[in-house]
Amino acid sequence: MNETKEAYQVLLYYLYTPIENPTEFAANHLAYCKDLELKGRILVGAEGINGTVSGTIEKTNQYVKDMQADPMFAGIKFKIDMAEGHVFNKMHCRPRAEIVALELEEDINPHEVTGEYLDAEKFREALLDENTVVLDARNDYEYDLGHFRGAIRPDIRSFRELPQWVQDHKDELMDKRVVTYCTGGIRCEKFSGYLVREGFKDVGQLDGGIATYGKDEKVKGDLWDGKMYVFDKRISVPINHVEEVIVGVEHFDGTPCERYINCANPRCNKQILTHVENEEKYLGSCCHTCRVHEDNLYAKRHDLTDAQFAERLALLLTENK
Ligand SMILES: [Zn+2]
Repeated sequence: MNETKEAYQVLLYYLYTPIENPTEFAANHLAYCKDLELKGRILVGAEGINGTVSGTIEKTNQYVKDMQADPMFAGIKFKIDMAEGHVFNKMHCRPRAEIVALELEEDINPHEVTGEYLDAEKFREALLDENTVVLDARNDYEYDLGHFRGAIRPDIRSFRELPQWVQDHKDELMDKRVVTYCTGGIRCEKFSGYLVREGFKDVGQLDGGIATYGKDEKVKGDLWDGKMYVFDKRISVPINHVEEVIVGVEHFDGTPCERYINCANPRCNKQILTHVENEEKYLGSCCHTCRVHEDNLYAKRHDLTDAQFAERLALLLTENK
């Protein structure tokens, strides 16, 4: 056995808890994380902490122990994945007004108003109940890689667009039981609270998010299709350990696909699901407009001269005639 393989861990965690001086805390916490040789992203606000970091098993365990011993973070829960190395390039710890940007005119404190917390088994029951609406609280590209079977996909590119989506669909949802889910649970804390405040009578949220559901020993990720999008180098992680279904659809040819790239036009930067061969064929770009955009990075990244790039483009155009 190779002992260095899987010798790292990825932590995902959050806690809504008052932090007195977020700017000062963030600076100190960053230094502490660097001491532990962790890499990742942590947001700190007056309302709490939201983080994901990678590091060796020893150092990440130390971090978990230290955080749990701090009275300010009493009750904090960590979702832990094994990894073969760091899944981030750098360590960031930044102060923010909100630890997840929902940008409501009137903010929600999840300690005051939030949806009912559902454990994995309760959530699975909700998935099977035809009178319950299951609402994915994540972005469209996250849903497209994988989601709970039968869940609604709000067509939003960022979390802060979700309240408006709810306003636009209020009539269809208002009289139903609505349960929400997200990656680690943090987005649903406020979002389900928002639904309650908007007058929805029966609102639930998946406690600990998809990450926790996938690790639950009883449900084993059942009824999840595809992979879970994660905001680090891994891009996707498996959730369903009962059966494997691919729901991702290749951008160019419509075949099953779970490989995300960003469009080579940085002005677009859209995430597209594509196979290696099609990435090459279509010059890493989502559409013709992006392909010929003056800022397109494909040629530079692949050491193509202008003539070579033009040749590849011409080839593509003849083939698609
Ligand atoms: Zn594009």
